[in-house]
Amino acid sequence: MPASKGFAAQNPQTPLAPYNFSRREPGPTEILVDVLYCGVCHSDLHMARNEWGQAVYPLVPGHEIVGRVTATGKEVKNFKTGDVAAIGVIVDSCRHCAPCKRGEEHFCDEGATLTYAAKDRVDGSITMGGYSANYVVDERFAHTVPAHLDLAAVAPLLCAGITTYSPLRHWKVGPGKKVGIVGLGGLGHMGLKFAHAFGAHAVQLTTSLKKKEDALKLGADEVVVSTDANAMKAHAKSFDFILDTASAPHDIDPYLQLLKQDGTLTLVGLPEKPPAVNVFSLITRRASVAGSMIGGMPETQQMLDYCGQKNITADVEVIPIQKINEAFERMLKQDVKYRFVIDMSSLK
Ligand SMILES: [Zn+2]
Ligand SMILES: [Zn+2]
Repeated sequence: MPASKGFAAQNPQTPLAPYNFSRREPGPTEILVDVLYCGVCHSDLHMARNEWGQAVYPLVPGHEIVGRVTATGKEVKNFKTGDVAAIGVIVDSCRHCAPCKRGEEHFCDEGATLTYAAKDRVDGSITMGGYSANYVVDERFAHTVPAHLDLAAVAPLLCAGITTYSPLRHWKVGPGKKVGIVGLGGLGHMGLKFAHAFGAHAVQLTTSLKKKEDALKLGADEVVVSTDANAMKAHAKSFDFILDTASAPHDIDPYLQLLKQDGTLTLVGLPEKPPAVNVFSLITRRASVAGSMIGGMPETQQMLDYCGQKNITADVEVIPIQKINEAFERMLKQDVKYRFVIDMSSLK
């Protein structure tokens, strides 16, 4: 069995620390991937500290994985040894329900298998994430990566990228549409890049004027400070679509006021408390509040290919794994532009 090591949380209180374990031999349709880079997602921190109550310890986080294939099962078609492969938030699903057959494995009726802290469908073990030396995954849940992209900056596409790409595509964001992005963190900065690339009029909605210059550089056509009542009023009933990426608890009503008739506000951040919805703000414009998470395997590949064509990657700060606990603390203070990515060669 391939030996592995990584950084794990042993309980909700203690910092992540080195941990040795092993992976299974890749099955006929599976590949073994040496992890090169792994992005640091907010979920990793929530899960390591059991803030959603679903943690299983020891817990090796990480679901924004880019690596190199080092072994393939004999039926593998899409990868060969030496190829770059990417792995995101899910690594398996039932594969026979209607959503799975449609290629929307993330909506699997039986529940998709998460990349870490979930029960593995093949061997019953607990999945261990990408803050580690390697990963074994079925090729259906791995993606090819456009060769010319910076691999460290590709890693966050596997969660932050697809989480924003998928709803912008689903709600048909493009030329002639005015689109708001709430929040300018790991998710928000990708949402802004995609909204801009899709040709929409992209507006960054932010609580802090300090982010204005950065938002303009990332592709915003306008920046609106959401705490400025006059500025918000000037944009009332003018947005086709708003992507809300904020994960801290916040009032969504000011954003609903910005929607046009039949506009949609889609939530992709995960605040701990459910947001209150003012029904008057919905009925007066037939507005919708919606939610979205990641994307299916075909759409994730489509997103990576699109990023290859348009040269889109995340803005990242690369760290050695030994700095992960410090990175968690800085992430809580939003002190990162815009995603930490672990250089896994630091583990060796
Ligand atoms: Zn994530
Ligand atoms: Zn399914």
